[in-house]
Amino acid sequence: MEIDVLRSPVNFLQHMLGALPHEDALRDYESWWEAEGRAISDATDRAGTPWLRMFDRAGRRVDEILFAPEYWRALRQGYKAGVVWRAFEDQSLETCALLDYITCYYDPGLTCPYVISLATAVALDQHGDPALKDRFLPMLLRRDDTVWQGATWMTEIKGGSDLGANVETIARPAGDRWLLSGDKYFASNAGADLAVVAARPDDAPHNVRGLALFLLPKRREDGGLNYTIRRLKDKIATRSVPTGEVELRDSEAWLLGSREHGVHQILEVLNLSRATNSLGSAAIAQRALAESADFARGRIAFGKPIFEHPLMAKQFREHFETLRHAFALGWESIRRLDEVWRQKPPYSDRYHLFRLIAHLAKYWTSDVAPQIARWAMEVHGALGVLGEFPVERWFREAMVLTIWEGTCHRQILDGMEVMERKGAHHLLFEALGDWASPDEIAHIRRRVESHLALPQSEREAGAEEMFRDLAMFTARAAVQSLSLSEAPI
Ligand SMILES: Cc1cc2nc3c(=O)[nH]c(=O)nc-3n(C[C@H](O)[C@H](O)[C@H](O)COP(=O)(O)OP(=O)(O)OC[C@H]3O[C@@H](n4cnc5c(N)ncnc54)[C@H](O)[C@@H]3O)c2cc1C
Repeated sequence: MEIDVLRSPVNFLQHMLGALPHEDALRDYESWWEAEGRAISDATDRAGTPWLRMFDRAGRRVDEILFAPEYWRALRQGYKAGVVWRAFEDQSLETCALLDYITCYYDPGLTCPYVISLATAVALDQHGDPALKDRFLPMLLRRDDTVWQGATWMTEIKGGSDLGANVETIARPAGDRWLLSGDKYFASNAGADLAVVAARPDDAPHNVRGLALFLLPKRREDGGLNYTIRRLKDKIATRSVPTGEVELRDSEAWLLGSREHGVHQILEVLNLSRATNSLGSAAIAQRALAESADFARGRIAFGKPIFEHPLMAKQFREHFETLRHAFALGWESIRRLDEVWRQKPPYSDRYHLFRLIAHLAKYWTSDVAPQIARWAMEVHGALGVLGEFPVERWFREAMVLTIWEGTCHRQILDGMEVMERKGAHHLLFEALGDWASPDEIAHIRRRVESHLALPQSEREAGAEEMFRDLAMFTARAAVQSLSLSEAPI
């Protein structure tokens, strides 16, 4: 096993992808994390939930999130490196995804503001009218400390999986804009300058087709606060992103795109995060493996480092291989997204193929990361459960990635839907034809098709086994595709 590539996210990316775009920028970014960011990230995680300062000294509502000044320096580092602006300059999401990978290796919580700021900018650019874009997009694309941050707020108190039933935020038309009232119950990057928000126009049906997507700035046109933060969540991990409960009370907002396609636009936002989340899961697994490999080389039992005992060595090799598969599947979802992120409804077949791969990737990689992180703790023995050793953190961080952006159940059921309604599995088998043998493809095709032919409730109840097999098959083919191509990027 090439253990040394685990110590550096950029070396691992190069190991998987060969030539990297903007390699100098990626290396500079990693160097900053090694020199300064690691310590800031550890302190932020240990410090726990940041403070919410709701009132200033004069008793006026200000709703500021209080982190140490070093935190803000770390946060801005990624924006300056290009987690948002490079997507627009390159007309590609790939370098942003690679920067997010590096971020997640050091601090998964910070990946969240970066990804949702990018999702906000993309939604605005795709669906905002020209005046709205001119007004707000340049602020999200700034390359200095004045950059604006975005956020994506959908979930309400009754639950995030069934948005069609549970979004109760109402939007009422008011001249050229809308006024939104309701509460968002899991609002990451609370305090953001701009958010994209799911709400229901007051005359829309109470189902998923009744949802629309709105752009909501932090400040009203008169300068006052446009939303307030009720409280911040005390979370087990991702502590470097403040996640709060946000109150909207006649908050000024603009409709993005058309009401008719509101739900599609909401899913575009979520699917971008899901693809990135898949790479993030691989980054966490890499970090957990790196910590455990370092430990295992120094810990002696029965006369030699535990790393050298055959049972342990075999497990390291297997987990390293699983990491490679998880990365390859996550990367495949990014590559496919890169082909379709400029599409609008009605989508092409390639978009449906991306959706299936994104569901497979989000499901499987976020399942793999906590398994590897748990094993990495075990390698440390009792020391693994202590806060003094970094490894317990990677287990906590991995647990969040399985839940946000839609749990594993959601990914499986949405993945099933895109196969049933759009035949996306046929597109997948065609796409993977170069990297799997005809026999292998015929075998998995039979497996999927016989499952899809089951009666509805049986089909749903047994979906996970089939979906896992399909995800692992796709991951194996994706690894092949990377190792067979001469210049992967
Ligand atoms: C740290 C953190 C930050 C977050 N930040 C944001 C944010 O910024 N914006 C945002 O909008 N949301 C955010 N979320 C919310 C997240 O998107 C939701 O947690 C997620 O969508 C699941 O919704 P829920 O937690 O309400 O679970 P529920 O929807 O209540 O589901 C509960 C359980 O039931 C399962 N379930 C639901 N339907 C089915 C079904 N048909 N079949 C089988 N099982 C089912 C779910 O998979 C889950 O296991 C955040 C969550 C976390 C943990």
